[in-house]
Amino acid sequence: MSSEHTKVPHTELISVIKNVLAQEDQVVRLIFQKNTGEKFLYPPLDKMLYLNVEKVIEILDYIVQTGFMDKKAVETLRFCPVCFSYEIIPTEHCPNCSSTNISRGRVIEHFSCGYRNLETVFLLNTGLECPRCHKQLLIEGKDYSRGKLMYKCHACGNLFDTPIIDYHCQKCGEYFPIDELGETIVFHYEVKNGKLEGIKSTLRMLESIDANLRENGYSTKYCTQVTGSSGVAYDVDLWATNAEKRDSILIETYLLEDTISVDEILRLQALGYDLGAKKIVILTYSKLDQKAEYLANYYGIKRIVPEKTGEVTKEIMVELI
Ligand SMILES: [Zn+2]
Ligand SMILES: [Zn+2]
Ligand SMILES: [Zn+2]
Repeated sequence: MSSEHTKVPHTELISVIKNVLAQEDQVVRLIFQKNTGEKFLYPPLDKMLYLNVEKVIEILDYIVQTGFMDKKAVETLRFCPVCFSYEIIPTEHCPNCSSTNISRGRVIEHFSCGYRNLETVFLLNTGLECPRCHKQLLIEGKDYSRGKLMYKCHACGNLFDTPIIDYHCQKCGEYFPIDELGETIVFHYEVKNGKLEGIKSTLRMLESIDANLRENGYSTKYCTQVTGSSGVAYDVDLWATNAEKRDSILIETYLLEDTISVDEILRLQALGYDLGAKKIVILTYSKLDQKAEYLANYYGIKRIVPEKTGEVTKEIMVELI
């Protein structure tokens, strides 16, 4: 199983999730202008986190892939390609002369003279009368037929099934076919309700472990990069050191995966080795698969299951330091 570390840096993932959870409705809106390819986020997570917009979208799409968020296209807005106004009204035109002076109705055909037109043209107070030969139409099926709904052009007299639809800009007055209009698609990224609590309590727990370690004389680095003795910089969730106690703790959270694989344990072990970590701790509700469990025990990597309240218990702190 692939792990989130290989795709999306942990620290960026956590920053995005935290900012999503800070929204009242826990929704991120992506406004995509199809013609120009421009993308905007609301809230503007890209600007808030100093990441480019594509990167944030990649992270959001990754969260969707893991099943913690849904992505839905909620709206398609069309706009005038000349003046960019959203005030555009669909208008129906005659396919023959392109007049907008058309109406719709049932088509009546008078059998004896062959005249065809919309029913309204035959209607008199007394009943139906043929406007061409002025005979009364009495029995449907014998004198005349009442057909399907059609359009009639009052400019050229054309009868037709489907009009041409154009869009009329109310601001600049131009007409456009639909494929020439600008198009903005609004997507919503929404956290799935059932998944919320676990993420929240894991993040709260990480923060309170951070605070507790600092109270106990540790210096900590929270969701940032730390450089190992090899010179390689790593994204880590929490890195705590205490020179006096000669202690150092690496804490990694797993928010989205179902199970943690052996590859992830190997990565953590190598990371811990390069940082010179005395202890490695995994903070997660996710289970380790059988091999990963074995290897974690072998390396002395501990797993802490977050408390629902996000508070750190004394027992956990005793275990940690
Ligand atoms: Zn007639
Ligand atoms: Zn016409
Ligand atoms: Zn316009």
